[in-house]
Amino acid sequence: MRIGIIGAGQLGQMLGTAAKDLGFECRFIDPSESPPAGSTGAVIRKAFDDPAALAQLAADCDVVTYEFENVPVEALHAIADVVPVYPPPAALAIAQDRWHEKQLFDELDIPLPGYRVIDSRQDMRAAATDLGLPMVVKTRRFGYDGKGQVVIRDLHQIDAVWEHLGDEPLIAEAWVAFDYEVSIIGVRNSQGAVAIWPLTQNKHVDGILHSSRSPVENQALFERASAYMNRMLNHLDYVGVLALELFVCNDALLANEFAPRVHNSGHWTIEGAVTSQFTNHLLAITGQSPASTACSATLACLTWWAKFPPLPVNSRMGESACMIMTRRRVPGASWGILRCLPHPRQSETIYCKQSLKL
Ligand code: AMP
Repeated sequence: MRIGIIGAGQLGQMLGTAAKDLGFECRFIDPSESPPAGSTGAVIRKAFDDPAALAQLAADCDVVTYEFENVPVEALHAIADVVPVYPPPAALAIAQDRWHEKQLFDELDIPLPGYRVIDSRQDMRAAATDLGLPMVVKTRRFGYDGKGQVVIRDLHQIDAVWEHLGDEPLIAEAWVAFDYEVSIIGVRNSQGAVAIWPLTQNKHVDGILHSSRSPVENQALFERASAYMNRMLNHLDYVGVLALELFVCNDALLANEFAPRVHNSGHWTIEGAVTSQFTNHLLAITGQSPASTACSATLACLTWWAKFPPLPVNSRMGESACMIMTRRRVPGASWGILRCLPHPRQSETIYCKQSLKL
């Protein structure tokens, strides 16, 4: 079985590693010079929407998937007649536009923060009146890690925010004074078999995922989030892994956004679940049943950016060194694993303990 993957970054690398364990071969498209996933399969070094590269991938592979959300949907449609493409391009098209994403939440009766579409300066003023301040203005497309979004706390900011973002289609959201953020990750195959991992609690710093811990010990919350996940998977006739990010706010559980792909908040599933999100994504897109998503440990995963002492990218640090680093940073951690991620000076520490405070 040969798997085609659009994008050969960090998530692609983790998919490639899981694919090897399953006996699959991977082939990637990525224009980068030496993409991380290159260690796990051949890379066609072309743009993600290069027609010849896509045609080659479609001809060479049994199924095609993607590891990031900004893949042009037209590129997927162009090959979908030749080879199965999962997750369904229709799900990706919705995820690429925050308005369409929110319309889907509304349609499926999944609660979400109040929102207004913004097409003019006047719309922005009206949204501030309707939603109240603070409110968050976001670009509808191509925003990630907090980019393309501004918090408006004062009506005087509106002109400046319009000058800054007004060239793009925008959406405004009510500010949520959440208690904490969670993500739920599920997987479905084409026969409709679904499996869902335990809830993960996430902390973002400056809009970027900083740390995740799982499981969140709250059965009622898990059941509500799972119901939303099931609704989405079935409605979209979804195949593969889907992640849904939510705000927990008093008794409310409000949807923020979804990602039709393996998700950064699910890295812990490699060490902490019976089956990782990467393995189950591959099983699902190749028509097999997802395997157990049960937790095998209480885990937390920190992603360190440049604030961490610089680490050589391909560092082969021994486990004892990792433990020392983990202990120094997080007193009381009982053990640690350090993975250096492909981004320069980015690494990830996974550690385990019953009562961790991040
Ligand atoms: P997003 O790109 O929409 O996932 O936003 C990145 C992060 O910004 C989220 O994970 C939250 O921490 C924060 N954020 C986004 N939207 C809101 C909101 N409406 N209210 C409060 N915080 C938000």
